Amino acid sequence: RDIVQPTADPEERALEGALRPKTLGDFVGQERVREQLGLVLKAAQIRERTADHVLLSGPPGLGKTTLAMIVAQEMGAPLRITSGPAIQHSGDLAAILSSLVPGEILFLDEIHRMSRPAEEMLYMAMEDFRVDVIVGKGAGATSIPLELPPFTLVGATTRAGLLPGPLRDRFGFTGQLEFYSEAELELVLRRSALLIDLAVSGQGFSEIARRSRGTPRIANRLLRRVRDWALVHGVTNIEQSHAATALTMYEVDERGLDRLDRSVLLALIDKFGGGPVGLSTLAIAVGEETETVETVAEPYLVREGLLGRTPRGRVATPAAYAHVGRPLPEGHWS
Ligand code: ADP
Repeated sequence: RDIVQPTADPEERALEGALRPKTLGDFVGQERVREQLGLVLKAAQIRERTADHVLLSGPPGLGKTTLAMIVAQEMGAPLRITSGPAIQHSGDLAAILSSLVPGEILFLDEIHRMSRPAEEMLYMAMEDFRVDVIVGKGAGATSIPLELPPFTLVGATTRAGLLPGPLRDRFGFTGQLEFYSEAELELVLRRSALLIDLAVSGQGFSEIARRSRGTPRIANRLLRRVRDWALVHGVTNIEQSHAATALTMYEVDERGLDRLDRSVLLALIDKFGGGPVGLSTLAIAVGEETETVETVAEPYLVREGLLGRTPRGRVATPAAYAHVGRPLPEGHWS
């Protein structure tokens, strides 16, 4: 899943950092979230208070981390970045919270994967800016109240539905990020091409945008793959056909589906007669974690009308049969 997950490669990371928009004005798309978030920040500035806690949800690569950085930038506050899986014990969280400077923005990625005790500590921290630290064990354990500096939590999750209600309720603002339109992805690509000094034709941009799976992170990655391909083939002005050839070579099809997307559809059709089949069974069939199939592959397949969610399980739509080149069986539910 290298295509959508954050990369470990330092050069790519540096480039990803350079391509990140730094202000709300530079942030492409997500009109509603941008406007509402802008208002939350403005109001906080007028009241000279820290901004309300913000929850951002949506599939990976849509701009949650970028927005957290923008919140810090717009508030003129420092940013601390951590993630749910990095917080094993409530003590880890207490250490982070008590070392924040007043007004600091705390970005907590994958907040749905935090441990239960840490989550409970977070409730109180968010509400009252204090925590109770437990010292000692067993009958001798005592709880010591600890005042915290005021801070703004920006939580990110691939699925808001996974968050317990009490946690969700403590966010003053919740922004649900949506997949980007092709036109928006073209804007992202044009800006990135300018920054990495790459010449691409209008049709070339459309071709890459169309294959970017509605996701800016993927758009930027595909742009770099196309750049590599062009470099090796001595192409200086990238046309539509170049982009198409390069991306087909990287197994990104004309609709933006990658290998995992296609193997999900093929398993659904070839192994389970088009469904309905349970998500975890489907995940086992393609050799992936259930969460990966659910949060990475599925949202885009649903949006593209290739996969349906029914109470009895996942089903392949007629469009899915057509896309992977399988005949629609007689008596298909459609
Ligand atoms: P997430 O945290 O949701 O996984 P990120 O915020 O890390 O996603 O975004 C991934 C990359 O996509 C960033 O490096 C950034 O360059 C680009 N990106 C995301 N959203 C936008 C946007 N709205 N406009 C331009 N670039 C974006």
